[in-house]
Amino acid sequence: MGLFDSLFGGGAKPPANQYASVKIHPAVDKGVKPGSSSFSGGTIKCKCATDPVIVEISAQTAHNHACGCSKCWKPDGAIFSVVAVVGRDHVKVTANEDKLEVVDPTAAIQRHACKGCGVHMYGRIENTGHPFHGLDFVHTELSDQSGWSQPEFAAFVSSIIETGVDPSRMDGVRGRLRELGLEPYDCLSPPLMDAIATHVAKSRT
Ligand SMILES: [Zn+2]
Ligand SMILES: [Zn+2]
Repeated sequence: MGLFDSLFGGGAKPPANQYASVKIHPAVDKGVKPGSSSFSGGTIKCKCATDPVIVEISAQTAHNHACGCSKCWKPDGAIFSVVAVVGRDHVKVTANEDKLEVVDPTAAIQRHACKGCGVHMYGRIENTGHPFHGLDFVHTELSDQSGWSQPEFAAFVSSIIETGVDPSRMDGVRGRLRELGLEPYDCLSPPLMDAIATHVAKSRT
């Protein structure tokens, strides 16, 4: 090492995946898989071995992201959910709809969950004044098809503390999210926060 480096160098570079042992969600832990621009939808299926609920999604999803809130469904052991949106007109239950029930009818997002396995099949906003009315929330990991829009960021990151993650782990969690290219935010991403604020501003005029 030369004199300049020893005085002004940044020291040892951290390894590229120094937080790789931090588990976020099975769909992203090995790296984020890119979506396909030519993908136009598919089906998702709950985890019941018999008579699964099947939902047809007839469009590509958008705003896919990791979510740390306590309300979204996540697979066993995951500290984040991975959830995307799609226009509600593109969401249709095609099998075993009778197994679905709304988790919390008072919540803004009506999460339709399977009574058999607990998986949330779609979340719908019925309040027409809500900024995200018209969009359903879906978990494309429940699909056998690939090409769905890829996770782009992480939302409500600090909220994982409410679901039991020790606060001392947050540096590692945020470090891992950045390694995966999922910029961590403690609410939604700036474009979505701007969309909400725009909606609020417009509804006041
Ligand atoms: Zn089920
Ligand atoms: Zn959530």
